[in-house]
Amino acid sequence: MYCKNCGNEIDDRAAVCPKCGVSTGIVTAVQNTNVLAIVGFVLSFFMSIAGLVCSIIARKQIRESGEKGMSFATAGMIISIVSMVLSVVAVIISLLIVFVFASSIPYYYQ
Ligand SMILES: [Zn+2]
Repeated sequence: MYCKNCGNEIDDRAAVCPKCGVSTGIVTAVQNTNVLAIVGFVLSFFMSIAGLVCSIIARKQIRESGEKGMSFATAGMIISIVSMVLSVVAVIISLLIVFVFASSIPYYYQ
């Protein structure tokens, strides 16, 4: 095809004219993966809250832009929530153990 701006012959699949840089109006079939979705997915394993925030923002961005990475963002969100729930459960169990142990101490000293 020919660029509608400068008239040079350019690749039919080109989204942008390499000669003048003007958009050809073609939406490229290969869409970018949302970077935040991958960041959120990776963070969800180490920092649940940061991973959850990144994943939620990434899902919003992907819905608006049509980028790839929705499965990453969803997985990151689920992993973050699961690990946060597990953390809360672990804290509750720890507190229960401490409480039971602490409440049994006075009997040894009576
Ligand atoms: Zn051009």
